[in-house]
Amino acid sequence: MHQVSETNEAQLDAARDYLRAVGVEDDYACAEQPCDVCGDTHFAALVDEVEIGQGRRWKLPVVICETCGFVMQNPRFEPEFYDAYYRKHYRVNLFGATEPERAFIVDQLRRGERLLQSLESYLPATGRLLDVGCSSGGLMVPFAKRGWEVLGTDPDAGYAEYGARHLKLKIETVGAEDMVLPEAHFDLVVITGSLEHVHDVNRTLELCRRATREGGLLFIEGRALLGGVAAGTFSHTHRRYLTLRSIGLMMRKHGWEPILSTDELLTGPTRPGGVYVLGRAGEPMSADAFAAAVREGAAEEQARVRAAVANLPGARR
Ligand SMILES: [Zn+2]
Repeated sequence: MHQVSETNEAQLDAARDYLRAVGVEDDYACAEQPCDVCGDTHFAALVDEVEIGQGRRWKLPVVICETCGFVMQNPRFEPEFYDAYYRKHYRVNLFGATEPERAFIVDQLRRGERLLQSLESYLPATGRLLDVGCSSGGLMVPFAKRGWEVLGTDPDAGYAEYGARHLKLKIETVGAEDMVLPEAHFDLVVITGSLEHVHDVNRTLELCRRATREGGLLFIEGRALLGGVAAGTFSHTHRRYLTLRSIGLMMRKHGWEPILSTDELLTGPTRPGGVYVLGRAGEPMSADAFAAAVREGAAEEQARVRAAVANLPGARR
């Protein structure tokens, strides 16, 4: 067991500055976290500043795990900050409104259509779909039209209510870590660009695995790392920056075997830099097998990540 180090005064001041900069009035505790993937606590600084909206940049450290190459914000705020932030500030900061624009919904519908096409050969004709971090849930509509039973979850009340009211979808306003789900129920769980936002990724994936039937599928779209590189800066709302390898490792840790892993844009062209992994539910790996998987290819992953972010503002040499 590694000791997580205490946050120092300078970090706390910087954290407070950041809260004010993104419009949050209350103070929240901030502490260094172990690696989401391998649990280790040895990190190297990767990028020193992130984009906080309207083109503004702010100091917020993004680090790379020296053991497995995972990229995440560190230190991080306590869970209450994320609850408050996603309830009150996220959409307003991002789009200046608490309800989605029509173009946003149309994009969700199209991405759902593309996803169905992309996964067609892997999916049953109909089944039960869970969309974690579904926002207004438009991605589920093409599935519902083909007879799928669908359920979405999202902590953002304004967007979730919009989907329930206007798209007639079943959406629960809840954070991913607090989802209450039936056991061994779903045939497909999708998490598209949302795993970057949750505060406890391991708890989220554990809940998803329990709610998936044996042989069921998990589809994860990661867009933070290469999406950030494509956008020219990392976004402050992404707690972690996923790659094909790190998504694959997290899946294997929680009981999914990756059966498709690609940077081909499976949900269409509107999210450049996306990476996609589809996994099939089975047994979680043993701790030994997982540790071996973490070591294998870690050096190559670190080199890939460092090369990818080298030209971002605030990148460390
Ligand atoms: Zn790690």
